Amino acid sequence: MSLSKDALDWLLPHKCDICGSVADVTEGDIANYKTVYSRIYGTQPELHICGKCFSQLVPLQGMSGWTLCLSDPVNGDPHPELALFAPFPYDEFCQRAIPAVKFRKKKELARLLGIILGKTVRENGIIADLVVPVPLSEERLSERGFNQAEELARPVAYATGVPFAAGVLERTVNTRKQTECKDTGSRFLNVRGAFKVSEEWDLTGLVLIVVDDVATTGATLHEAACALLDAGAAKVLCVAFASNRTVKNRETV
Ligand SMILES: [Zn+2]
Repeated sequence: MSLSKDALDWLLPHKCDICGSVADVTEGDIANYKTVYSRIYGTQPELHICGKCFSQLVPLQGMSGWTLCLSDPVNGDPHPELALFAPFPYDEFCQRAIPAVKFRKKKELARLLGIILGKTVRENGIIADLVVPVPLSEERLSERGFNQAEELARPVAYATGVPFAAGVLERTVNTRKQTECKDTGSRFLNVRGAFKVSEEWDLTGLVLIVVDDVATTGATLHEAACALLDAGAAKVLCVAFASNRTVKNRETV
């Protein structure tokens, strides 16, 4: 005897990928996202979301989501004009959703967040030549099996019609360890920060979107953007799913 899928779902209801409650969002509610997902990835995702979390996945209308991406306003900043687009606040909800992606390895959830982010970026009319993700260290990548920034960035590229490239930015070796080294090369890398542009890429004159999951201080995206600008990019737009700089009060809407 075999049980039907409906019977199994009734006996063993799925848990929400984000909060662990019973995943009660219907296929109809999430159908549009699944359609976009299958267009990008060629497969249907296994996504399980509860109604409460699903209701949180809507950025506020009429909010641009742009803030200043300034990592070092006190000691001077070579690129103080950098702007950050982050349509969600890093609130209680995002503090569950993002760790679910990173620490419970919910890659399909990362892609769903990317699809929502991409839709918001497109609605804000952002134009660029290339979308690149902030790279993950080799150690984290082997732990997690995927780079969440890449999973967010690819749907942004799809939504905006901008080409996507994963290997443009590379992590340098650990900068703290470099400070212990006294040779010129190590010092140079330490000043330049945590990222460099792959030698395979010529970014001269290009407008780039660089994507990360969360911008808290903005320092990671700022350093990534500086590396791209130093490599000749004409302009860099920093994009994150969530930021604690995004001012939003859901209760008043
Ligand atoms: Zn939930």
